[in-house]
Amino acid sequence: MKSSHNRMRDAIRVVLIETSHPGNIGAVARAMKNMCLQQLVLVSPRHFPSPEADARASGARDVLHQARVVSSLEEAVGDCPVVIGVSARKRSESWTALGPREAMELALGRAAQGPVALVFGRESSGLSAQELDRCTHLVHIPANPDYSSLNIAMAVQVLGYELRMQSLQEAGAPSRGDMAVPASVAQMEGFFGHLEQALHDFGFLQPGREGRIMHRLRRLFHRAAPDEREVNILRGILSSAQGGKSMRQRSSQEES
Ligand code: SAH
Repeated sequence: MKSSHNRMRDAIRVVLIETSHPGNIGAVARAMKNMCLQQLVLVSPRHFPSPEADARASGARDVLHQARVVSSLEEAVGDCPVVIGVSARKRSESWTALGPREAMELALGRAAQGPVALVFGRESSGLSAQELDRCTHLVHIPANPDYSSLNIAMAVQVLGYELRMQSLQEAGAPSRGDMAVPASVAQMEGFFGHLEQALHDFGFLQPGREGRIMHRLRRLFHRAAPDEREVNILRGILSSAQGGKSMRQRSSQEES
């Protein structure tokens, strides 16, 4: 199966219907490239190509220049088993609009079998009832109910971001958390023993009253879920505050 990155690039298609402002088309191209999307289809744009679109696309002119211009929605999505209408309105009659996250999870999943279209409406009037009928799913970005209409490029950005997050998650992209080796129970226990001793040395813990405070400190450090290196740093700090006994010396004492 293609990687999630390639699926996004090749099989997820952004379709804009009768966009009036060329600047918006450029801004959409930019939002797409930022989020690793490449397939742009313009259905009867009012002005295209246009210097304004180029200017707003900035470093994403390649996406703009590769855009396919067609004259009907059928031409744009005819080969797509999944067509997701992106609507500023939360139509409730016969449609249950999905939220952005679940819709983009579906989009990326289904992109493994064939092209998936995300269809965006006109700035003035959105998508028509017939266009919505052509869609297999509907997605709505739950914005302020008193003013829920986003600029079209912003709507592309939000969905693109959700796709990107799904794709990174699927790819298991290395994040700081993934790369770090979590501290083992034994390392945490070594640290807690060291901490308790150090707090006694500092005169912070009074004999007989250490139980409660150590319990709270344990909870605090477990909540932070430190990795091995972080535990070593903490122990280094304790050692130097205790008067320079190095962590390595202590570890070897603990082992012996
Ligand atoms: N006045 C139009 C809104 C047009 S905004 C209307 O009432 O429908 C242009 C396009 O941006 C919309 O057709 C839709 O594709 C997208 N969009 C804007 N706000 C959105 C939102 N909250 N959720 C999903 N899509 C949105």
